[in-house]
Amino acid sequence: MNIVVKRELPAPEEIKAAYPLAEAGRLVKAANDRAVADILSGRDERLLLIIGPCSADREDAALEYLSRLRAVQNEVQDEIVIVPRLYTTKPRTAGDGYKGMLHQPDPNGRPDLLKGLTAIRKLHLDAITQTGFSCADELLYPEDYPLLSDVLSYVAIGARSVENQQHRLTASALDIPVGMKNPLSGDLGVMIKSIVAAQHGHTFIYRNQEVESAGNPYAHAILRGYVNHLGEAFPNYGTEALLRTADLYEASGARFPAVIVDGNHSNSDKRFEEQPRIAREVLASMGSHGRLRKLVKGLMIESYLEDGCQPPAGGVFGQSITDPCLGWEKSRRLIYELAQAWPTLH
Ligand code: PEP
Ligand code: MN
Repeated sequence: MNIVVKRELPAPEEIKAAYPLAEAGRLVKAANDRAVADILSGRDERLLLIIGPCSADREDAALEYLSRLRAVQNEVQDEIVIVPRLYTTKPRTAGDGYKGMLHQPDPNGRPDLLKGLTAIRKLHLDAITQTGFSCADELLYPEDYPLLSDVLSYVAIGARSVENQQHRLTASALDIPVGMKNPLSGDLGVMIKSIVAAQHGHTFIYRNQEVESAGNPYAHAILRGYVNHLGEAFPNYGTEALLRTADLYEASGARFPAVIVDGNHSNSDKRFEEQPRIAREVLASMGSHGRLRKLVKGLMIESYLEDGCQPPAGGVFGQSITDPCLGWEKSRRLIYELAQAWPTLH
């Protein structure tokens, strides 16, 4: 192989020991985990709202965002359970560009994976201890999960990874809910098969060991829109796609059928300001179809302090350096609107 080993990296246990989660934080995560599982299983009818930046590029802006979100969460706690997006690894369709805090703890600096491992552990830890949120991240590198296993309450498997066997097998071993995005092609059957695979137990190789997983009953669907053979974006948040997902779910026999609708990505074609309208349309579909009121459990929104996005060196505090996000004021208004509308559907 044409690689140069730059250095050995510490095991997750070593970094965890240096940045441990205290007992109070463990209790916070346990309570958050329970709330999310209860929503996905239908025991709790509140809206699951996974909201936050496309990428958490710097700790100060991410924590400022989370502290604002905390105040709102406290006010809407009877209607909504918020799990912030705190995404520290980013898949890159064209290979180049910012790959997230794990690779570049300084978004303008050179890749530094040793610093990155510590930075993402510290970010998620500080999120819990300072704001009471155990957050969502993308499971881009399945082998890296143990570093964050005690601080996350939700992971998503991205559109580019959902067909990958190692992601599915790892998802089957997680104790927290895993959202399976539909693949870029939009094939809902692939997404459902990924859910079924993750709900089953498997024997496989993980971090150089032969392991056996118990299966993850809370693996579920995330609809993110799709790209056709001409490379054009198409949405799948509409009533027909939701009903089709309900049919496929039913035929699959998967447990706890649940859908989260991602309002950005190919659903908005990254026109971030369309996310509130898309959320409203999802709620309207639920209003006219009892099956969808049961199936749709939540929404995913890309949101940050400032509207839109900028190049990595842009320097605007709290503006995305990956996908364009809904700014804070619009996001806050959307959350209150959802808190008003959601209970009337149940
Ligand atoms: C994301 O959630 O930022 C993301 C990369 O999503 P997807 O895998 O749907 O493209
Ligand atoms: Mn994104």
